[in-house]
Amino acid sequence: MMPQPRRVILLGASGSIGQSTLEVLEDLSQRGERSFTLVGAAVRRSAFALQGIASSHPLEAVAIAEEATAGEASSEVRRADGRLVPVCRGPRAAVELVDAVARPGDLVVAAMVGAAGIEPVLAALARGCDVALANKETLVAAGAVVMAAARQHHVRIIPVDSEHSAVAQCLLGLPRGSDDVARVVLTASGGPFRTWTHEQLRAATPAQALKHPTWAMGAKVTIDSASLMNKSLELIEAHWLFGLENTRLGAVVHPQSMVHAMVECRDGSVLAQLSPPDMRLPIQCALCWPDRVAGPARRVDFASLGSLTFEEVDHARFPALLLAGEVIQAGGTSGAVLNAANEVAVEAFLSGRLPFTSIAGIVSDTLDSVAAHDASSLEAVLAADGAARAAASALLPS
Ligand code: MG
Repeated sequence: MMPQPRRVILLGASGSIGQSTLEVLEDLSQRGERSFTLVGAAVRRSAFALQGIASSHPLEAVAIAEEATAGEASSEVRRADGRLVPVCRGPRAAVELVDAVARPGDLVVAAMVGAAGIEPVLAALARGCDVALANKETLVAAGAVVMAAARQHHVRIIPVDSEHSAVAQCLLGLPRGSDDVARVVLTASGGPFRTWTHEQLRAATPAQALKHPTWAMGAKVTIDSASLMNKSLELIEAHWLFGLENTRLGAVVHPQSMVHAMVECRDGSVLAQLSPPDMRLPIQCALCWPDRVAGPARRVDFASLGSLTFEEVDHARFPALLLAGEVIQAGGTSGAVLNAANEVAVEAFLSGRLPFTSIAGIVSDTLDSVAAHDASSLEAVLAADGAARAAASALLPS
């Protein structure tokens, strides 16, 4: 007999990870492998996406963070059985959704973008839910608070980011977990600008930066991938998830995006996780953790793959990668500052107000100008986030 379906709440349901999560849930239930019930969904602004989800899942409530655009105004969300679904609205909508729907033992998939994920994740942990975390900015900005909350409430944070899923999968094979690890190496595809010169990078446009060679993702993470800031964020994320100091963390460029991370053990043996660049696999791993079930993800075809290559990151062209070490060493609120400054800089680049090559400089200058404080409370994290946004905005060209 099948066990009770696991209740899932999906935050960031209309984004790339959110849509892939819906696909995986659908696939697993069709195969009869695992059974889940999607009881809540939050989006930033797409009421249209929520209506689609409500027509095929027994949602108990939904959330929309931003005011509806004209075409979507006054939309109500109705389930297939005709029932109207309560809608939480406004900037705290996702937190209200979690508070309204989540029960101990539920799984909350956190796939929102940016620091907006911090409070809903904390709300989920406080209600005794496991969190499948795709929102790396939450750990970068509030790692100390989030990890402490998970320990306090005896719940798990299961990584969805492909590199961290890879590390977690490799660690399953090590009896003493992180204690057996000499070093963790995350791979970076190198993004669309891997082979560009500094002069080309200076003139890079948002459209060029949004053309990622191996992964199809949302705008924020795609720009972060092009600057390699994404890898900086992921090194900080790994520091929190696996308790590793900067000296035991590294990154290497791997353009094929087949190896997602490598774990070097104390004896020199290296474990690696391989799979095609397809987020459905790490999403499924997190949903079913730590079980292996058949699912929709693409398979490795070694013969057509040919070769796997690795190369050093060029720090002169991609200085953003160096910021991770600075932040891990400085600790405190420096992660919140880095994250907020980067969100401001990426937004400015996307709207044509900042050259691509200035993103890392804005973040670095903001780190220099905003002092790091103790980050053991949410208030301290949010204050640092606000101060960094103001400082970074003031540094933008007028
Ligand atoms: Mg990643």
